[in-house]
Amino acid sequence: MKQISPKIAVLIIAILISGIVFLALYLYFPSEYNIAMTAAIIGTCSAFLSSLILFFFLNQIILKKIDRLLDTVKNYRANSDNPSPRPNYTNNEIHNLDLEIHAWAEDRKNENEQLHKLEVYRKEFLGNVSHELKTPVFNIQGYILTLLDGGLEDPSINRNYLIRAEKSVDRMITIIDDLEAISQLETGELQIEPERFDIAVLVKDIIDAMEMKATAKGIILTIPEDNKPVFVYADRFRIRQVIVNLIVNSIKYGKEYGETKIRFYDIGDTVSIEIADNGIGIAKEHLSRLFERFYRVDKSRSREQGGTGLGLAIVKHIIEAHNQTINVMSTEGAGTVFSFTLKKG
Ligand code: ADP
Repeated sequence: MKQISPKIAVLIIAILISGIVFLALYLYFPSEYNIAMTAAIIGTCSAFLSSLILFFFLNQIILKKIDRLLDTVKNYRANSDNPSPRPNYTNNEIHNLDLEIHAWAEDRKNENEQLHKLEVYRKEFLGNVSHELKTPVFNIQGYILTLLDGGLEDPSINRNYLIRAEKSVDRMITIIDDLEAISQLETGELQIEPERFDIAVLVKDIIDAMEMKATAKGIILTIPEDNKPVFVYADRFRIRQVIVNLIVNSIKYGKEYGETKIRFYDIGDTVSIEIADNGIGIAKEHLSRLFERFYRVDKSRSREQGGTGLGLAIVKHIIEAHNQTINVMSTEGAGTVFSFTLKKG
């Protein structure tokens, strides 16, 4: 029901009171019609005026309080994180207060939902981190216990177990480095420091550094033969991390004797960088979740390959910090194409 404004309410009450007074006086002097009528008119007028004045003052006191309440709720909402837009006010103060309180309740509800989501994410994240760290820690513990139980004196295993323990420590360092990178990216601590550079040269450097890893699997890494410079404006160090992660994945999930092609496309104000492999590919149902932290299509294969499940999440954060986009296209069994854009330099 549409709410009656306090001013209209005052008027209605004043008319009602004066009506009652008029009726009472008229009934009190039933024989003397003129006297009754005059008394009734004077009584009604004075009752109407006095009730109008009385209610007006009462209303002013109440309205002031409502105004103060409205200001408090308004300020509280304005100072909270992500307040919803101000409701459309009418000239009815009570109705406005009602709107503000509803908006405030809605904001609190959204805030609670957000907190709940964060809580779920925090629990999930902690669970994932401890799960990832558990395997190398238990491995190291196993090797040390075996060495302490006499293995140290056994030349056939002592060196071997130490090498294995060192590999597990390396694994832990990789996980911690990735965790550190993702937490810096997510808390916004990491500032993007853009500069103009030739991304074709950067890709060439990365390919040279990765050649051994690729050849171990018989994979060829190729770049456009024309050697044309491709200037972009981006954070060179972070983009190096993006390209390394994508090329490492193309090797990890590539077929033996396969190929990874890196290509550049000119798209208006941006350059699109494409990393395409002819590896195992990714089934359609996984594509939308691929950039989530710790999401892996095949957990054991990823761990076996030294993956942390954080590589693509880091890649996405870096590209988004540049206000650019990254896409993936894949066909199971045929290969995968990752492409991201950067501002032209
Ligand atoms: P990981 O450390 O497991 O490689 P990423 O975040 O880099 O983690 O990748 C997430 C998952 O995406 C991988 O576990 C893998 O299943 C899939 N993936 C990533 N890149 C490729 C690729 N080029 N080909 C096939 N699968 C891929």
